[in-house]
Amino acid sequence: MDGHTTVIRGRSLFDGVDTEHREGASVWIEAGRIRAVYGREGPPPPPGARVLDFPDGGILPGFIDTHVHLILGTAHRNHGPKSYNHVMGEDSDALMLLRCVRNGYLHLMKAGVTAMRDVGARNRITLDLKEGLSAGLFHAFPAVQVCGRSITMTGGHFHFCNEEADGPEACRLAVRRLVKEGADFIKVMGSGGGTYITDARRASYTVEELRAIVDEAHRHGKVTTIHCLATQSVVNALDAGFDCIEHYEFQEMDYTRNFNRAIGRRMIDQDVWLSPTIQTGYRRMESLRALRDRRPLTPGEQEALTYFEWKQEGQLYVTGELYRMGARKFIMGTDAIAEFGDYAIGLELLVAAGLPTKDTLRAATSNAAAACGFDDAGMLAPGKAADVVVVRGNPLDDIRATGDVVQVVKGGFVLPMDSLALFPHGPGAAAPPVRRRRPDPQVIRT
Ligand SMILES: [Zn+2]
Repeated sequence: MDGHTTVIRGRSLFDGVDTEHREGASVWIEAGRIRAVYGREGPPPPPGARVLDFPDGGILPGFIDTHVHLILGTAHRNHGPKSYNHVMGEDSDALMLLRCVRNGYLHLMKAGVTAMRDVGARNRITLDLKEGLSAGLFHAFPAVQVCGRSITMTGGHFHFCNEEADGPEACRLAVRRLVKEGADFIKVMGSGGGTYITDARRASYTVEELRAIVDEAHRHGKVTTIHCLATQSVVNALDAGFDCIEHYEFQEMDYTRNFNRAIGRRMIDQDVWLSPTIQTGYRRMESLRALRDRRPLTPGEQEALTYFEWKQEGQLYVTGELYRMGARKFIMGTDAIAEFGDYAIGLELLVAAGLPTKDTLRAATSNAAAACGFDDAGMLAPGKAADVVVVRGNPLDDIRATGDVVQVVKGGFVLPMDSLALFPHGPGAAAPPVRRRRPDPQVIRT
């Protein structure tokens, strides 16, 4: 032990699975791993230990975000439009890789996310990020699993990531290519989405194509997950045997959103991981509502607000209904596209949808770890990586406590919480084009 023990003490603790302590708890850390977890009756810290006391603290496993896009994070972009097309058109891979670093750091320090799964980036960006992390270039970063590029049909959602594949053979080849390049898991775009020219109401792939992907991925021991906004895409994903389904918005051809209980039943019975990404669009909705309080919205803004309210209402409803039908395999994903470091709102929304706080915290920890295969994370137990978050208050009593992160420990490193400003929130965009002064017009007289 040679005196290198760190002891985190708080008032309450939830281990991520079932055990909770309410009147005193501590976690002992040695060599980057958890050595012991105690409630009120725990022994005093060993001599020479570094003890961190949080009298009001709620101790939790580090949070896990199962759905991020690290190359984005372009809220407050300082010029020009913010659509995918503009971001993808203007920003280089190198800039995006830098943004990945900033975004991961924000997620870690601000939200206490100590592990995350990147579900779609361009070219080799996240694969290079992963390589850098594996090489030990820096430590203050969440554990990451990457799909590299998400597989999509020609012209499909996120086609700009450059992994288009059509037909079962090409789909199989895409999986092999990604595995060769180092993908940890396989992500597929099963319907259209926010990408210009795609249609969220329509399934992108046939069951035959999806089966080829799942079969090939599983042969290599890779987990599969699929983006599904269209009802038909959820059915196709279930037919093909995906491990996890993202979003499941149940969008119909007539632009309604219709939770189909028979399909919901299949999602539960087939034991699929459920990733509702419940907070997508929530901040945008909030800011449009705030704007509406200050001035009348333009028709475009009103249309956007109506859309985000419809989306939010649907996500709460579907998630709540699935829970009431017996679903328990929920996992927490922010779908961070605009903002990183904004995680706890998703937990608040899961509770608003009808999940008890314990199930909500499981979605953020042990469930997420199991779904992604983070064997080392999601649980405060001896032998696990020492990824620990301390929040103010007990989140089992009030989930909003998860938004008040006071200390993050990553792999045993007690992180300096005042260093957040080193990687500020900000535009994260390509620099505005330099405006060159035009030379004065020369008048040539003859
Ligand atoms: Zn996404």
